Amino acid sequence: MSTEVRTTCPYCGVGCGVIATTDGARVLSVRGDPGHPANRGRLCTKGSTLAQVTRAGGRVLAPRLRRSRDEAWQPAGWDEAMAHVVERFAAIVREHGPDAVAFYGSGQLLTEDYHLLNKLARVAVGTNNIDTNSRLCMSSAVTGYKRTLGADAVPACYDDIEAADLLFIAGSNTADAHPIVMRRIEDARRARPDQRMVVVDPRATVTARAADLHLPILPGTDVALFHAMLHWLIWERRVDEAYIAAHTTGFDALRARVREMSPRAAARVCGVPEAAIVTAARWWAQAGAVLSLYCQGLNQSSSGTDKNAALIALHLATGQIGRPGAAPFSLTGQPNAMGGREVGALATLLPGHRDPASAEDRAEVARLWQVDAMPATPGLTAVELFEALHEGRVRAVWIVCTNPAQSLPDATRVREALRRAEFVVVQDAYDHGETIGHAHVVLPATTWGEKDGTVTNSERRISRVRALLPAPGLARADWEILADAGRRLAARLHPGRESGFRFDDAQAVWREHQRFTIGRDLDIGGLSWAMLEAHGPQQWPFAADAGGATPRLYTDAVFATADGRARFPEAGWRAPAEAADPRFPIALTTGRLPDQWHGMSRSGRVPALFARADAPWLAMHPDDLARRGLVDGAPVRVRSRRGDFAALVTASPDLRSGHAFLPMHWGGAFVRGGDDTGVNAVSIPALDPISRQPELKHAAVRVEALPVRWQLVAWARLPLDRLESARREWLEACDGLALAWAVPTAGAHPVLKLRAFALQAPQAAWLARFDALLGLHDARTMAYDDRGTGQGRRLRLEDGRLAAMRLAGPVAPTAPQPPVAAPWLEGLLLEGAPVGAMSRVLLAPAPPSGDLRPADRIVCVCHGVGERAIDAALAAAGGDARQRLATVQSALRCGTGCGACVAQLRDKARLAAGEGVAVP
Ligand code: SF4
Repeated sequence: MSTEVRTTCPYCGVGCGVIATTDGARVLSVRGDPGHPANRGRLCTKGSTLAQVTRAGGRVLAPRLRRSRDEAWQPAGWDEAMAHVVERFAAIVREHGPDAVAFYGSGQLLTEDYHLLNKLARVAVGTNNIDTNSRLCMSSAVTGYKRTLGADAVPACYDDIEAADLLFIAGSNTADAHPIVMRRIEDARRARPDQRMVVVDPRATVTARAADLHLPILPGTDVALFHAMLHWLIWERRVDEAYIAAHTTGFDALRARVREMSPRAAARVCGVPEAAIVTAARWWAQAGAVLSLYCQGLNQSSSGTDKNAALIALHLATGQIGRPGAAPFSLTGQPNAMGGREVGALATLLPGHRDPASAEDRAEVARLWQVDAMPATPGLTAVELFEALHEGRVRAVWIVCTNPAQSLPDATRVREALRRAEFVVVQDAYDHGETIGHAHVVLPATTWGEKDGTVTNSERRISRVRALLPAPGLARADWEILADAGRRLAARLHPGRESGFRFDDAQAVWREHQRFTIGRDLDIGGLSWAMLEAHGPQQWPFAADAGGATPRLYTDAVFATADGRARFPEAGWRAPAEAADPRFPIALTTGRLPDQWHGMSRSGRVPALFARADAPWLAMHPDDLARRGLVDGAPVRVRSRRGDFAALVTASPDLRSGHAFLPMHWGGAFVRGGDDTGVNAVSIPALDPISRQPELKHAAVRVEALPVRWQLVAWARLPLDRLESARREWLEACDGLALAWAVPTAGAHPVLKLRAFALQAPQAAWLARFDALLGLHDARTMAYDDRGTGQGRRLRLEDGRLAAMRLAGPVAPTAPQPPVAAPWLEGLLLEGAPVGAMSRVLLAPAPPSGDLRPADRIVCVCHGVGERAIDAALAAAGGDARQRLATVQSALRCGTGCGACVAQLRDKARLAAGEGVAVP
């Protein structure tokens, strides 16, 4: 018998509601929750494929430990593993003090997990060395809000998207990073054709192409742009002097600061026309309500706080805050980055938005946690924490639900730091290789579908996350592991404090967190889990005497500062930390793909999510390719002062010449080549001086051709729960090659695909070992080797269907296409159809007939609709582009799921109708 359970998507900060159908043992399906205010029934491709994630393998199922990294892992029971962890942590604390250990968590944790991770560090151990990967995505948003509005609180709600007259999107490719927010924007713009949209982004992203005005500024020049807009608004007397006088301080200093930054001056700094800057400022002035939406483009910067604050200053100067449709709206990256901020699980925060630098706040937290004092020594933030580990100032680290060896900048140095550490604990659900490979103890945690608790999305809305399945193996909920550790560590280090770690369930932990919010800006004293059960997700503040949730903040223009006035920041424009120079002449920026999430430890298990992008690529302007003699699809090395990353280069007119773009998702678990640490081999650990957030969005690099001479393509049909381990084995076999990557591929059956390049042909013995991994080594294998060309082919049939194959041979670096037969054979394998009489020609170097077409390219990931079917249907449908699109959507359902492919479908419909495609 199946049941339906309402829960929340675990990927991004949009916080979409999900209805999961389960039979108690498996998640059968998921769909969007029409009753959830964030998504109203929609899900993007990541959310709608969650059921597949729960069925994939690659989980940590039991504790394991080793006394040194030279030893093999030993399986352990929970008691043995925890006793060992506590003994080592306690010994290091006793010998070197509490700041010799550190804790590093994740925005993926639930609020209850987060609360206890924080308490473990600050109460059981007595250190402020607690930080999380949220530092990498939103700490500049925190400091931006605090320095202007006085509190870390997003003043807006998603309904403001519909209420705004102008949407001002800066540093956010909303369409790819927050797809359901983009769907709401599209709905709003359809309903209100007069609504304007400005996008500020160095790239012509999907979001930028949907805008009425795109400002492709040079990376890092946002503050100059915002100051120039303010300059124009002041000059044209379009600021709200009455609002400024009544509700703010510091405007005169900012007015003096922006005097020199005219639109003409900013045009030179930002690399966009003066007229475009003036248009943006004029539209801002003309709009009754302006909603700015911003994300990593502002945050992941060495001047992230200033960028956030300068944008918020535009709102304050024009009174564009505290009304429907008028607010600065920071889109959070992770599903519970907000929850982590609420419970203060960051070195620079304490529970309930308190400040560890404030003696008064520390005393209040100590009273609420019933301990004598909170630690006063400032804690280490993410990048600093791993640097301290490298230098030996921190000797042990406990890493929860994150993969810093992939996600932190300068990943090679982070791995060195982990190697040098005396003791590393990794608590995780997924057996990803990068960080776990450095651990002494691995603790198995539950994950989405198995956990119970709450998360808070970008609009301050608290939603329940509910367990649907039993915990696999010996996995335990993160809060339970942390409570256990807290009891044991407190007993060793601070006897008497262990009682503070006794909780019956996640709800009891939440109630303790709730107590820290009472009387604070995020007061949830009036909320309960019963209320969330009865009335669904709610926005904070929700004070006991307030009578309900609070959709918008600062409606009374009283800000969270001592005098109730908002502050204008006074800081000028600063260039990114690392300028391009003759040795590293390319400005590299990074970003997200619509179908992947962070390091792909979850989304990378879903074959359909690779349908639109199945290779690590670096986008560059076509002129830059021509200048370097590179061809589209050629393997290249991206090199910075810190390390190397190998990828395929692709020509993109969406970038300026001299710039490059790299999706952030590729790590060593999926791609080998360069330093084997993934994209962050090249990124820079430069920090914003206030938020301590690293500049992941910008680095100076050079791009060189990889002189490859040999390539290999391989596929194998595998059970879904074998894809993970097979990927690891295949990639380990490719260690030392110039470039290799492996991804699951959508077809009739799960298929793993690998492509590799080498500088020279490997030894025959290497190839034989690789063939054995694919089961292409015995009598079932069909083989052909062409001694003349050096091309070799192997394949195996099962039940008359292609089950595995590899094609290998010489390749020219200037013509790095896969072997001619590859697309055809891949199509046969993915379709899973009997090959019949064709088996005689499968080893031919090319398809024997023009009718044998390659695998179709999936366009609509939600409904698995391929390009051929769409093109044929559009050609057959009559009418103009709009009519053709409607006909095809109704017939094939493509573009009716998450909607991410609609822009592409619209372009195709225009072409089919002979209307041409608008070039941005
Ligand atoms: Fe999940 Fe997509 Fe919604 Fe983000 S937009 S919460 S990834 S369904």
